[in-house]
Amino acid sequence: MSRIKRDDMVEVRKGRERGKRGRVREVLANEGRAIVAEINVVKKHVKPGQQARQAGIIDMEAPLQLANLALVCSKCGKPTRVGTRLLEDGSKSRYCKTCGELT
Ligand SMILES: [Zn+2]
Repeated sequence: MSRIKRDDMVEVRKGRERGKRGRVREVLANEGRAIVAEINVVKKHVKPGQQARQAGIIDMEAPLQLANLALVCSKCGKPTRVGTRLLEDGSKSRYCKTCGELT
């Protein structure tokens, strides 16, 4: 199970986007990377008929290494490490190691 999931709020810990926060659009589990909204935006040249109707340059979010992302706790608002806790019904749940709240 990945510690970061779609729609999580994350903070970038390394690289040129360090310190920025965004919401996870998609986790590319096989690559160990994730696409985060508004983060690591790169310019991409396109020809008509590919992704765009018109030729030109589009902004595109490039994937980031999961190892360089930290989950931002929805309870305490801090980038945090995530623990896994076994609930009474046998399911696993993530919790924030900073404040102890389930996320
Ligand atoms: Zn917390």
